[in-house]
Amino acid sequence: MTDPAQPLQAVLPSVDKLLRRDETAALIDAYGRTATTNAVRQVLAELREGLPADKSVALDEAGVIGRVADLLEAQSAFTLRPVFNLTGTVLHTNLGRAPLPEEAIEAMTAVARGASNLEFDLATGKRGDRDDHLDALVCELTGAEAATVVNNNAAAVLLVLNSLAKGKEVPVSRGELIEIGGSFRIPDIMRRAGCKLVEVGTTNRTHLKDYAEAVGDKTGALMKVHTSNYEVQGFTKAVGEKELADVAHKHDLPLIDDLGSGTLVDLSQYGLPHEPTPAEAMANGVDVVTFSGDKLLGGPQAGLIVGRADLIAKIKKNPMKRALRIDKVTMAALAAVLHLYRDPDRLASRLPTLRLLARPQEEIAAVAQRVLPSIAAAMGNDVVVDTIDCQSQIGSGSLPIERLPSVAVRIQPSGTKKGRGAALKRLAEKFRSLPVPVIGRIQDDAFLLDLRCLEDADGFVAQLAKLKEAGGQ
Ligand SMILES: *Cc1c(COP(=O)(O)O)cnc(C)c1O
Repeated sequence: MTDPAQPLQAVLPSVDKLLRRDETAALIDAYGRTATTNAVRQVLAELREGLPADKSVALDEAGVIGRVADLLEAQSAFTLRPVFNLTGTVLHTNLGRAPLPEEAIEAMTAVARGASNLEFDLATGKRGDRDDHLDALVCELTGAEAATVVNNNAAAVLLVLNSLAKGKEVPVSRGELIEIGGSFRIPDIMRRAGCKLVEVGTTNRTHLKDYAEAVGDKTGALMKVHTSNYEVQGFTKAVGEKELADVAHKHDLPLIDDLGSGTLVDLSQYGLPHEPTPAEAMANGVDVVTFSGDKLLGGPQAGLIVGRADLIAKIKKNPMKRALRIDKVTMAALAAVLHLYRDPDRLASRLPTLRLLARPQEEIAAVAQRVLPSIAAAMGNDVVVDTIDCQSQIGSGSLPIERLPSVAVRIQPSGTKKGRGAALKRLAEKFRSLPVPVIGRIQDDAFLLDLRCLEDADGFVAQLAKLKEAGGQ
């Protein structure tokens, strides 16, 4: 303990003295000498600053080293780490969207560890094209003439517009001028791609003649954007791909379609609502389709571009392509996911995104019964814990108004309504502070853990005891 009368120098141990202690040797072993020395200096500096007001703190050497250990642990933790997504939104953009199948993880590890034939033709021993690893597979699964893949769908849209309509006008319906979270806005992307957006129609109604009137000498392409994160209902009219393709082709222009979350299979066979596929878009006459790799496709972050061979060739020649290309690890994951699609019979069990979306409510209810007692046991007496039927959503702007029947564990703080808001916030905070943070949602005066996406129930239950250690809520 510190004697308030002592001068600072006498109170705080020296750096050298701290580094010579046995407990410090263990820290040096774990974190290295440089990081440990820096942490010792930082803790001493902090103590020196805080000391006059803070003299009651135990400042014996062991106490200081304890602070050093805490600091080192905090510094060495990765800020990006796994969480339990119990929000009820399956493809949650803020939580990393699609979980990857084991097959993809193995493929990623294999190419990450050493050299690969990324741009090397094993048959000829000459330089190869990295696109070759994916393009044929994408064409096989979409029926496209040609394909290429970039970093994400935003990049795909940017590249397609810049390659096919730079310096030209591109008419888009006012009903399709979307903004996707994270500031992807069609008007902005259009400008950055070097194209001039021509708005046609109105928010709720756009007619074929609106497009026909907008097309002129300066037009470079026609574009449709899938309004993936909202739906305009009521007195609405949009022009279908077929009619729009006719207008485009009459003027010798390409029709581009940004599908957003293009799926490669008919989702209705899994009891899910239908979402347009790239194959359908192309069958309707669309010339180039773009879609994400990590939305309904269930793969890694990527942007897929499929369509007419001459247009894809032009897109591939754009120097921007080099700046937007995907890396070998992503490529390995995407190839592994696409390979799963070649075996549709087993797809729903092997592809986590589809498995979670199609998960029957009874199965989720069984998970709820399994984890409910552990959650109840880990909570204080000031809450009521039970299970309720709830609604999950697909997320990532896919099928925005569809809901999937699910089951949640509901935790309700008792007490007055006024105090409950703060209690709910504390509850959510406590779950977020677990070693593998648990992210739920607050709804109707309760904290809900939607169990649709909980597959590792054992891992989830194992850490719940820590909620008690964190103190009553
Ligand atoms: C999600 C989405 C994008 C952006 O795709 P990212 O893969 O997130 O870059 C673009 N357009 C539409 C219609 C979308 O739904």
